[in-house]
Amino acid sequence: MDVGELVEQVLAGDRRAIARAISMVEDDAEDLPKLIEALYPKTGNAHTVGLTGSPGVGKSSLAEQLVRVARARERKVAVLAIDPTSPFTGGALLGDRLRMQAHATDPEVFIRSMATRGHLGGMALAAPEAIRILDAAGKDVVFIETVGVGQAEVQVASAADTTLVVVSPGWGDAVQVAKAGILEIADVFVVNKADKEGATEAVRDLEHMLGMGPSAEWTPPVVATSTVSGDGVEQLWEAIEGHRKHLEASGELEQRRRTRLLEEVEDMVGLRLRRNVAGILERNEDGLADDLAARKVDPYRASEVLVSRLSRPSSAQRRDGEGPG
Ligand code: GDP
Repeated sequence: MDVGELVEQVLAGDRRAIARAISMVEDDAEDLPKLIEALYPKTGNAHTVGLTGSPGVGKSSLAEQLVRVARARERKVAVLAIDPTSPFTGGALLGDRLRMQAHATDPEVFIRSMATRGHLGGMALAAPEAIRILDAAGKDVVFIETVGVGQAEVQVASAADTTLVVVSPGWGDAVQVAKAGILEIADVFVVNKADKEGATEAVRDLEHMLGMGPSAEWTPPVVATSTVSGDGVEQLWEAIEGHRKHLEASGELEQRRRTRLLEEVEDMVGLRLRRNVAGILERNEDGLADDLAARKVDPYRASEVLVSRLSRPSSAQRRDGEGPG
């Protein structure tokens, strides 16, 4: 299928086309730049919501229930389950997918686990591309679920308009949250498994800790939920919507998205330059690698040589650019 056809089908919200487009992201397919170029102007509608927290706190269960609430409000929804540290889709995520079967027959729900098979930029660069596809396909809400609270996971989850940090009683004491460095990224705190002992204390501790922080326009609400009883899930949805409204009213939505885009492009350029440098060194061009190893050129000087070389147009570009005079 050619890219133009795929673009049309993605824009029409066709599930198989969406799945195919996301596979192109995973594989870093040759036609991916063309696909994204065509879809990019059609993006910006979707509210992206990241869920992060330790394995087992109930992120998938919550995502499943949030999908239900969103569907009851006639929102088109997608869930992207991501393990940024693994090149393969892990067993845990497969389990999540099975749990989502409740929504399998709803054409307005798209659920997908994602790995970074061939994507050299890793999930930090692959995830935004996948989200763009879902956005262009007409999804109103895109939930991004990551497996843990490592740096990569936090990076992916915080690349959303609204970031939920999920804890459960026992895990969720304030000290651990502070240690994990996730206080700063939370727009909404969720104390899940509220049916268990210790939930009230966890909520209280988090609220106390948040109260100690610098006063800001937005103080993350702390919502207690139970996916067993369903308690709190509606309130969580309201908190997510409330955050979105705050982002829009304050102008922060545009600002955040702009900042993210600039960072993404910076990362992308960095990655491409890095690949070029690695190539030059591996091929021992101009004998640079040999000179380094023989101590004829020091690393600092070598990096200077490389930087000036990369910022010069290639000989082919020079030839093209040569005009009269
Ligand atoms: P994830 O690893 O963060 O995605 O967590 P899961 O959604 O896979 O849930 C992990 C385990 O906790 C599963 O056995 C769930 O059934 C259970 N669980 C999830 N939410 C709740 C809850 O609100 N209360 C209780 N008691 N168990 C829950």
